[in-house]
Amino acid sequence: MKILIAADMEGISGVVHWDHVTPGHAEYARFRRVMTHDVNAAIRGAFDSGADEVVVTDGHWDNCNILVEELDPRARLNSGGPSPLSMVQGIDSEASGVMFVGYHARVGTPNAILDHTWSDTRVANLWLNGRLIGEIGLNAAVCGHFDVPVIMISGDQSACGEAVETLGAVEVAVVKRATGRMSAECLPPETAQRKIQQASERAVNRLRTGHAPQPFRMESPIAVSVEFVHSEMADRAMVLPGASRTEGKRIEFSAEDMPSAYRAFRAAVTLAK
Ligand SMILES: [Zn+2]
Repeated sequence: MKILIAADMEGISGVVHWDHVTPGHAEYARFRRVMTHDVNAAIRGAFDSGADEVVVTDGHWDNCNILVEELDPRARLNSGGPSPLSMVQGIDSEASGVMFVGYHARVGTPNAILDHTWSDTRVANLWLNGRLIGEIGLNAAVCGHFDVPVIMISGDQSACGEAVETLGAVEVAVVKRATGRMSAECLPPETAQRKIQQASERAVNRLRTGHAPQPFRMESPIAVSVEFVHSEMADRAMVLPGASRTEGKRIEFSAEDMPSAYRAFRAAVTLAK
């Protein structure tokens, strides 16, 4: 049984501010270590429940946050980028389940630490097949293409709630209760990591006994619509072949499957810069 742990940083234990997740800021050094240990808790839970193989993918910023020297030696780490499948690099049909550690709610969610969708400065909204989607749904749909379900998430209560609403009954570890975009009641990492380990154990046990959630699959072809923060970003993104302008700040395009939709979305956001 192979488990992929896709890690982001905004939903890591104790994180409440951009300073905590921005390389170069003095506070960042503390939270990349906490991130590494939140991930280690998920790895422990997976192996304790019978996983044979765990691959971790670092999905935040430049994908170089997790301290490889402090990572559980039983796991392997996808680090650096850009990589072909970005935040879910390493997903393939050999994987049995995916865990989202340190994830955050989609842009516009109230009481959600650092809510955004891919780019805080560029993306105002994202729809797949007419459905409003954040990073949770987007990355889960790429995993769904390979027929692999998301089985567990850690983050604040809003990220965990969004995951359950979008993906069904995944196991959750709520590590902080957000009371705003940059305020939360946080569990200390030791306590939060115990919850992450337990959620990971439950998730892998459910996989083993055939009670895991279904993969999150998008019907093909996939209609992708991106609303940008400013209209000139849409001007730039229109360089993307096949894109059409539906509103001042909004473009739309169609993709034959989720990996292509994911690539085209990433291209549009990169062009928009
Ligand atoms: Zn991030």
